[in-house]
Amino acid sequence: KTKKLKDEIFKANKLAALNFHRRLYSKIGHAALEYLYGRGIDDSTIKKFGLGFSPVNGDEVTEFLRNQGFSQEFLLTAGLSLKSVSRKYHDRFKNRIMFPIIDVKNNVIGFGGRVLDNSLPKYLNTPETPVFKKSKTLYAINYAKKSKEDKFVIVEGYMDAIALHQCGIDFAVASLGTALTSEQGKLIKKYRENVVISYDADEAGVNATLRGLDILEGLNLNVSISTVPKGKDPDEFVRKEGIEAFRKMLQNAEPLIEYKIKMYKKDIDLSRPEDKIKYIKKISSDLSLIKDQVKRDVYISIVSKDVQIPENTVRTEIEQFVNRFS
Ligand code: ATP
Ligand code: MN
Ligand code: MN
Ligand code: MN
Repeated sequence: KTKKLKDEIFKANKLAALNFHRRLYSKIGHAALEYLYGRGIDDSTIKKFGLGFSPVNGDEVTEFLRNQGFSQEFLLTAGLSLKSVSRKYHDRFKNRIMFPIIDVKNNVIGFGGRVLDNSLPKYLNTPETPVFKKSKTLYAINYAKKSKEDKFVIVEGYMDAIALHQCGIDFAVASLGTALTSEQGKLIKKYRENVVISYDADEAGVNATLRGLDILEGLNLNVSISTVPKGKDPDEFVRKEGIEAFRKMLQNAEPLIEYKIKMYKKDIDLSRPEDKIKYIKKISSDLSLIKDQVKRDVYISIVSKDVQIPENTVRTEIEQFVNRFS
């Protein structure tokens, strides 16, 4: 029974996506199409990602789907319609650029919608439905999983993923916001062992990077960090600096533990005992997350030499963390 409901939602979403896409190329979609062109997105990319436009007036898509035989109740469940106080059913997405979200089996599981101006909220997503759970979703994974590359690069946003795919980085996926979840980590793990995180170079991005990292490391993924220059995101970066610069940045991605060492060392003075102790405790906690024995040993040796402390002291500290967490 739930299988049938899910299939029905996929069907409705697919029809909605096609409808949004048609509208993008109709008269009413003109401004939206120009907006996308203005951001450097071309027709073949628009087609590849099935981008669309949701109409300004309240209920056209709901009506279209009603005419295809879907009930109003069902459209609420699917997250495509809303019911207002006046009991009238209307479209959830209005006057937005539409990004269909597609899973690994090529089902349209939901949508993201972006406004054309600076109004808020900038993005609106499908709520949780029987087929859509944002924390389990990676945008563009339907394409990335087919890439020849042995890694994924994780970005924050729809536009980052799309811009990268357009210039040939076909292994980009977006986590749809900042905090990476363990469910997303497990999804990655099904397909790849290596991930590069390339989040926005703002404070939210850095914090999210730091949080997401532990999750991925804990899953025994090979994580490295590629940092775009301050204030930018991967989309802006490739547009301004070009794709070769981005590829170079990927090549120079820092292994997670090195990134952490760098971040921790930033605000401390290792010649001060207190700072040194704090640093060793912090980095030991991170070393304890490394599941790969060889990798852990290599970094224990590096850290010990760096702060001039016996390896065994670091090991003992790490063991305490392992015990605490298990
Ligand atoms: P753009 O380049 O179109 O301005 P962006 O992707 O750079 O957008 P960010 O503010 O960096 O926008 O957000 C990153 C991602 O986080 C978005 O692509 C979207 O998936 C998600 N997101 C941002 N704001 C919201 C919101 N208000 N509601 C839900 N998701 C959001
Ligand atoms: Mn951001
Ligand atoms: Mn952006
Ligand atoms: Mn961004």
